[in-house]
Amino acid sequence: MHQLRWNALLSQWVVVTTERQNRPQMPSNWCPFDPGSGRVPDSYEVFLYPNDFPAFSPTADPFTPDTDLLSETGPRGACDVVLYSPEHTLPPSKLSLDQWRSVVDLWTARTRQHAANPDIALIAIFENCGEAVGVTMPHPHGQIYAFPFIPPVVQKELESAREFAAAHAGDCLFCRLMEEEVKRVTRVVAADQHFVAFVPYAARFPAEIALYPRRHVRSLLELTEEEKTSLAHSISIVRQKYDNLYGFLMPLMMPLKQGPLREGDPPYHFHLEFLPLQRSPTKLKYMATIETAYGTFLADTAPEQMAETLRNTEPVTKSLVQSCSGTRDRSENRA
Ligand SMILES: [Zn+2]
Ligand SMILES: [Zn+2]
Repeated sequence: MHQLRWNALLSQWVVVTTERQNRPQMPSNWCPFDPGSGRVPDSYEVFLYPNDFPAFSPTADPFTPDTDLLSETGPRGACDVVLYSPEHTLPPSKLSLDQWRSVVDLWTARTRQHAANPDIALIAIFENCGEAVGVTMPHPHGQIYAFPFIPPVVQKELESAREFAAAHAGDCLFCRLMEEEVKRVTRVVAADQHFVAFVPYAARFPAEIALYPRRHVRSLLELTEEEKTSLAHSISIVRQKYDNLYGFLMPLMMPLKQGPLREGDPPYHFHLEFLPLQRSPTKLKYMATIETAYGTFLADTAPEQMAETLRNTEPVTKSLVQSCSGTRDRSENRA
């Protein structure tokens, strides 16, 4: 069985894929992502690998947005695995700047391909990292889900941004939030000319970081070459900080969030989120009843304190205040 079912209470689609249950247990000394496995080229730098058990598939029935009480439809879309490196045990924090830049270029190329496909509504690029997030394969990799609909959290962000723009002369909610962070500096973790990393004011996860481009862009496709290098550099810095924070691989989710493809000018601002699950060197954050059933997060660290700790964790980026004040005028940003 492979279908989307409408959850009428939460107004959201659930992907039912029973085939995923039959995923084979891999032999522990074999990895399909390693050169020589027969599943990937014998030599590669980064590689896009079609997901063997996709939640969304180009050969599935087309998606129809009927939302009757018990609606079901086809999960047409695509799921890929992005291999960051041929080296099986290389943690993402040890990827070089050039390697991250190659990953950014692969993300961008795949986004461009999907943007030309009318079946795709939104591209979710992400990484699950660490056993606490359910990843048993150490091989450095992320994923790309091409959704036939706009998933509910992005839907919610779009609604918030639309309401904010309506009440504030068309301003971008994301730009304004970032400007507040840059002005106050206390929650900024790292910054350069093009990107700002900060702990959000109302962070939900321990040591959560948001990474925003200073310029108002909706997707990877709008970034300049220089901004893409800056993005690669910023991701590298954040990932190194995380693994240095407790001295081991930080279990985390890393979504890259882009605006919807089929709307002319969606009120969205491209950004990354880093959602770690480690709340201390020995304790994990669990998505328990209050978070999962009621949608309210309990955070047990002060974002300002966590930002200071992360800011002072290696690699420390110099002249933070200066690079913060380097932000350009808002009207120029939006041009
Ligand atoms: Zn491997
Ligand atoms: Zn913006």
